[in-house]
Amino acid sequence: MPFIPAFKPLSADFSRALWFVFHEDRLLIKANEGTDLIPRSQDLTKYGISPIYKQYLGSLDGLPCYAAELTCNQIEVDNFAFKGLRELFFSRLEEELIWIAGRANQLVDWSRSHRYCGRCGHPTKDEHDERAKICAHCGLYNYPRLSPAVIVAVCKDNRILLANNTRFKSGYYSVLAGFVEPGENLEECVAREINEEVGITVKNIRYFASQPWPFPNSLMVAFLADYAGGEIIPDPSEIRDAGWFTAAKLPAIPPKITIARQLIDWFANNH
Ligand SMILES: [Zn+2]
Repeated sequence: MPFIPAFKPLSADFSRALWFVFHEDRLLIKANEGTDLIPRSQDLTKYGISPIYKQYLGSLDGLPCYAAELTCNQIEVDNFAFKGLRELFFSRLEEELIWIAGRANQLVDWSRSHRYCGRCGHPTKDEHDERAKICAHCGLYNYPRLSPAVIVAVCKDNRILLANNTRFKSGYYSVLAGFVEPGENLEECVAREINEEVGITVKNIRYFASQPWPFPNSLMVAFLADYAGGEIIPDPSEIRDAGWFTAAKLPAIPPKITIARQLIDWFANNH
């Protein structure tokens, strides 16, 4: 059974629960016989791990899943360690657990950064019947924040536009992406981002797929587009290098788990 998200648990059965415990943005992982695991309730009890905050996430294969926060990163047990979310992509944790960890991290981070009302400064409270925080003083509601972003595979004949972003620590090349601005729709965002980052125009913009991206709270909405006109002139504040690549001669590209890679794989399989 896949992960089933929910706001409230069906029963108060903590005993079999999986705990996605964070200290700041790092997740507590238990190494066990060559694999990585998410700690269970019995681990928390056994090792005296007591989170200051918890939220129910849903269930995985019938097991309740909780997001939780620890104030201290000292866990005095050899096979426990905190790992950053990006490190999880290269860990031995199952992919489904990585995505639940991403969901958990966003909710813990949202809770941590909305303890006080952004309008009047008074403390907020968790709502009882939905995932929201309310200010008892002025009534302002806060829902978990998502920042939509577009990511685009631009094709020109049998080539794809790939760029090395100044934010990339490694030398890989990827498709272009950018955050949606207030007042624009997703297609307008695609056209603007491509034009701002490399100076070309695009046409025939169509939806491809989407993916939650918890770094820290994006929803990546992927598109395909065709080259319309202009020469590539990278914006040096964002793009170190950009160019057109054939499927036979791709540079180093992002890992399989990313939607960027799914776009590039789609191109390679269709050109
Ligand atoms: Zn308020």
